[in-house]
Amino acid sequence: MRDEACIFCKIANGEVPSNTLYEDDGYRVILDLGPATRGHALILPKDHYADLYELPDEKCAEVMKLAKKMALRMREKLGCSGLNLVQNNGESAGQTVRHFHLHLIPRYDDGSKIVEWTPGNPSPEELAQIRDTIRG
Ligand code: AMP
Ligand code: ZN
Repeated sequence: MRDEACIFCKIANGEVPSNTLYEDDGYRVILDLGPATRGHALILPKDHYADLYELPDEKCAEVMKLAKKMALRMREKLGCSGLNLVQNNGESAGQTVRHFHLHLIPRYDDGSKIVEWTPGNPSPEELAQIRDTIRG
């Protein structure tokens, strides 16, 4: 389950070098080349799935367990005071590499802004309508 044109397939499977933090049969965790913060890492499955929609359920569970393992290690080794998990799906969401990856972004008490949005102010009726749309 590889995509020959995919850079993350090549990195995950060791054909292209990376700064690897962890590796097992199914995953490689690497340092991001354009880090948001010190220690910004990516969890890559070795098999090719474009995004969360394609990721099998059992892999979803594995990825989150691995995220926790890495989060604990990063807190211990980097001394970060917080951590964001970010996972982009689709161009509109900012996904630039179409191979599922989970960002691990250590945070420090430096006031930097990484994941931010302006809170909206929908009416109760609007919220109820959206709720009903999604619940179907
Ligand atoms: P996204 O915008 O969620 O698709 O994130 C893609 C991430 O991959 C960005 O943070 C890039 O800095 C990172 N990236 C792209 N190419 C490489 C690479 N060859 N090695 C490590 N990180 C990469
Ligand atoms: Zn791939």
